[in-house]
Amino acid sequence: MHTNSAPSAFWAKARARAAALDAADPLAAMRGLFHLPEGLIYLDGNSLGPAPKAVIAEVEAATRDEWAEGLIRSWNTAGWFDLPVIYGDRLAPLIGADPGEVVVCDTVSVNIAKALHAALNLRPDRPVIVTEGAGFHTDRYIAEGVAATRPGVRLVLEGRDAPGIEELIGAETAVVLVNHVDDRTGAIRDMGALTAAAHAAGALVIWDLCHSVGAMPVELNAAGADLAVGCTYKYLNGGPGAPAFVFCAGRHLADISQPLSGWWGHAAPFAFEPGYRADPGIRKFLCGTQPILSLRALSPALDIFERVDMGQLRAKSMALTALFIELAETACGPLGITLASPREAGRRGSQVALGFGHAYPVMQALIAADVIGDFRAPDILRFGFAPLYIGFGETCRAAETLHRILATGRWREERFQARHAVT
Ligand SMILES: *Cc1c(COP(=O)(O)O)cnc(C)c1O
Repeated sequence: MHTNSAPSAFWAKARARAAALDAADPLAAMRGLFHLPEGLIYLDGNSLGPAPKAVIAEVEAATRDEWAEGLIRSWNTAGWFDLPVIYGDRLAPLIGADPGEVVVCDTVSVNIAKALHAALNLRPDRPVIVTEGAGFHTDRYIAEGVAATRPGVRLVLEGRDAPGIEELIGAETAVVLVNHVDDRTGAIRDMGALTAAAHAAGALVIWDLCHSVGAMPVELNAAGADLAVGCTYKYLNGGPGAPAFVFCAGRHLADISQPLSGWWGHAAPFAFEPGYRADPGIRKFLCGTQPILSLRALSPALDIFERVDMGQLRAKSMALTALFIELAETACGPLGITLASPREAGRRGSQVALGFGHAYPVMQALIAADVIGDFRAPDILRFGFAPLYIGFGETCRAAETLHRILATGRWREERFQARHAVT
């Protein structure tokens, strides 16, 4: 792009194209269901989704009518005790699971620990956990912690012990823990192929769906998946600290076990039996009392997804990321921006990662200009495109803002250099 000769003509054309795409967008009306601050371009819904407008009344009712007025009675009268499995059943269609295979509870980290122990318990003669050396750190940290509590069990890491995870799966592998979509690059793993390869070697797979659930169709049972975990505060818009979920294939439920044998996972929690006896179903993945107000905040978010055609959502997601890549590469490529996500839309989740040597101050300058993405060390600018509320016009404006910040060198200002705790 000859940015010095005709940048304004380039952006005027891009804006007109984006406006036409917005006018033809079948999901355009969904944006009105969310509270989004005026003027802000929010490309960080892959870290914390925005609030559905209906959540404010939902949480108020749960607080006033059920907690303040109902008090202890609400465990029965408001159905609090069953929310983890009721919401699990509502979430199941989004991940290709059947009723009774999903429970909403705890955090992703805790659920990874439970799922890893459960998988190891099903393969007691196999000592190896295979996982990603470069995946999201908590997954690897938890795998380390689980291995440390089980004598003989060890970790084998993609990127350290072999370049590709498939090469590491063998006769000693009990379980493979992988991300469906990489949190930094957005690269998708082929769920069917990797699950089949692991099963051929006698191993199980735990899929981490944090960056795919709510962003694209996920088909766990069609892929023959064993276990999965995921997050509800990213693309599902369940709120800060919203509880995570665990999926366990129905065929494993009778035999599987996990070590956090708390009363909520007991077959008869209110029988006060002297010893632990696990629930025969998905409740066995529960441990203790769940955060009811946070669960209730998830309900309006699930209501929204019940109205969404995930095929349409995926098509829009691919179109948004393709537009952003095209504009950012054309305008900012000559200024040093590189693409760190897969170029092929079918291999990319709903985010775009761009590489730049000074990614941190560039992201700070973008945020100051009301374009919120995030920074991932050492040199990644990460932009999440949640198709439910992000439009093509905003996508174009985000690329234009990035171009302006790079072209003017505004990111070099002193105020953009200081690192915050959360990046
Ligand atoms: C967001 C995310 C998590 C979050 O874990 P918490 O325990 O809920 O904080 C875990 N794994 C991956 C891959 C994530 O993207």
